[in-house]
Amino acid sequence: MRELLTRSAGELASEVAKGAVGAEELTRASLDAIASRDGRLGAFLTVQADAALAAARAVDDKRRRGERLGPLAGVPIGIKDAILVEGAPATAASRVLTRRGGADPNEGFCAPYEATSVARLRAADAVLVGKTNMDELAMGSSTENSGFFPTKNPHDEARIPGGSSGGSAVAVAANMTTLSLGSDTGGSIRQPASLCGVVGVKPTYGRVSRYGLIAFASSLDQIGVFSRDTRGAALALGVIAGHDPADATSVARDVPGWARSCEESVAGLRVGVPSEYFADGVEPAVRARVEAAIAALGEEGATVVPVSLPATRFAVATYYILATAEASSNLSRFDGVRFGLRVEKPGDSLETMYERTRGAGFGAEVKRRIVLGTFVLSSGYYDAYYLRAQRARTVIRRDFDRVFEAVDVLATPTSPTVAFKLGERTADPLSMYLADVCTLPASLAGLPAISVPCGAAEPPGGGPPLPVGLQLIAPAWQEARLFTAAAAVERSLS
Ligand code: GLN
Repeated sequence: MRELLTRSAGELASEVAKGAVGAEELTRASLDAIASRDGRLGAFLTVQADAALAAARAVDDKRRRGERLGPLAGVPIGIKDAILVEGAPATAASRVLTRRGGADPNEGFCAPYEATSVARLRAADAVLVGKTNMDELAMGSSTENSGFFPTKNPHDEARIPGGSSGGSAVAVAANMTTLSLGSDTGGSIRQPASLCGVVGVKPTYGRVSRYGLIAFASSLDQIGVFSRDTRGAALALGVIAGHDPADATSVARDVPGWARSCEESVAGLRVGVPSEYFADGVEPAVRARVEAAIAALGEEGATVVPVSLPATRFAVATYYILATAEASSNLSRFDGVRFGLRVEKPGDSLETMYERTRGAGFGAEVKRRIVLGTFVLSSGYYDAYYLRAQRARTVIRRDFDRVFEAVDVLATPTSPTVAFKLGERTADPLSMYLADVCTLPASLAGLPAISVPCGAAEPPGGGPPLPVGLQLIAPAWQEARLFTAAAAVERSLS
């Protein structure tokens, strides 16, 4: 049964459409895989088995009636717990979104409506199997900040899967689902995709509706996709992309046929290699894999061009000012009044109830971010931090504008390291923040980017090789180039 789940989304959807594979059979395979593996891996917070089987049967019935099936017919998909699925718990892995603040995610806030991206997946006949684990409210790079339990990397269970969408990456990497949705604010799709050896794509800011996504930093948040292969990512992104009047930041632009982009040649494509992304912190074995993937693009006819993005060095500081500032404001809605947890004692004032609720509901990293964000926005410091960070963001964006006059895509490592050990960085927030050094600039500039597997490298202390990802970054709205280049890398390695 598991073998089914190692196949790609496009292939499975066409088998389901032909009746060669049943959507129900596929869903059962996914649920069985979760039942047998996820006790160890911790990728899922909740599993909606009955709803998934009912949806799968509806897809099979539709086929029997001779109706045309959607592009993701019967394909099992996991949804990051920050994205609302109507009627299912949604906690964003925070106890503040549970009824009693306890350890059971099944007691989570029940989503009263559906995210647009999820509604579009359903309309494409995908089958939603469960909600995946993440760093609390998407803050983190290892999924160790989950308010419930950490997720383990299936390639080595002593190691982290990356984050914050670690559960979604593991669901696909461990063949428990074929696809999953994640959200990426500063790297939360690309970095875990890289560390788990799957494809992860973050679209241009505004390409996918954020309606129904629990907000972290609204000027950066984007929903995107994890898939075993580039074509599956292209298909699924094509399903969720497109204008949505319910999200004011969503942009009305045509969504091209990205599955076709995966077949195109890279001949003539100008691939920029920014020296700043190959600096000291990059593990030599990671660097070697990434350079080999870039060389493979060259062999396929792409022109490899060394470039420089000097403002890269501002990205970590800029991101951690802007993202925390926005988070401190977005997270004020978790106050014990409208949803989730409320902690109060008789005679409490409203303010004391807020304090008790937030004190009990949020974990340490979320509190750290709220404190940082409130500080950088406070009067007297606003100009020194927040405004300067806004200016630095503009400088970073202009760097990209300039290099994209000379190249079509950029190629970099997705993560400077392979997956690190559980617990290795939890005591040192700064070392955790540095895990995002390669993914943050594209986020700050609102650009689309993909991570595609490019082999494996031994971790610094020795041990079995672990996945490495190549990050490709394109100008705004040019996701097609990402799919073309990523598919070429994939072909060259297979
Ligand atoms: N790791 C980064 C952070 O902790 C990015 C997280 C994300 O993209 N959601 O903020």
